[in-house]
Amino acid sequence: MAKQRAKLVVGNWKMHGRLGSNRALLEAVAIGAGSLPEQVGVAVCVPCPYLAQAQALLAGSRVKWGSQDVSAHQGGAYTGEVAAEMVLDFGATYAIVGHSERREYHGESAEFVAVKAQRALLAGLTPIVCVGETLAQREAGETEQVVGAQLDAVLKKLADDAAKIVVAYEPVWAIGTGKSATSTEAQQVHAFLRSRLAAQGATVADVPLLYGGSVKPGNAGELFRQPDIDGGLIGGASLVDEDFLAICAAAGEVARGTVGAADATP
Ligand code: PEP
Repeated sequence: MAKQRAKLVVGNWKMHGRLGSNRALLEAVAIGAGSLPEQVGVAVCVPCPYLAQAQALLAGSRVKWGSQDVSAHQGGAYTGEVAAEMVLDFGATYAIVGHSERREYHGESAEFVAVKAQRALLAGLTPIVCVGETLAQREAGETEQVVGAQLDAVLKKLADDAAKIVVAYEPVWAIGTGKSATSTEAQQVHAFLRSRLAAQGATVADVPLLYGGSVKPGNAGELFRQPDIDGGLIGGASLVDEDFLAICAAAGEVARGTVGAADATP
């Protein structure tokens, strides 16, 4: 039987949550993740004010936690910014960088995202680097050009450390719209990203490639069965414990090889 890469499912809570309601969600995810096969990693990227709560409720569980952004600066007079080292202070593992909402609403360029990825790595966090095209770019046939340039900026900046990142392909038109990319569309872009990573060497080729954009319990298995999709970055569905855990369970089934082994990674 062909070997499956390990799977990783990461929740992106965005600007959702309150101290009171977070508790039930975090506790449910921590308990539910306990029964997943060991080949499945689970994490939640929470708003920074809730990192301490995530640490308190998730420490000792299978679930890791992280932030949704980090500052490009190490520290200093940058009002409102949160340094990667501060995120690490709360035991975090991951930091999302370059989410399309940051690129669009905060004007973050590919080079600026690359600096943030480097900051996260230097602090000891694993950056989850998001790349993705808009609908107009897809319709103009520019998907590979766009995501390739976004990825290249990070690979160039990180050089020998490029193998230490996670990449998430998130087509902008699929985020929060209920309209996921089909598994074929997603796999095509993932295969392209994989080849771009592989051009940097064998260890970089194995960087986990997550898909994000309207992943739900109903489509997760089909997406995760694709040979170059190593898991998911989950927005809306990560706010509902049953849905998030069902997506994690789908990753578990694929990782265990109980479904879809035929198209697994050799
Ligand atoms: C996201 O914002 O990273 C995301 C994938 O959102 P959703 O799952 O809600 O489309």
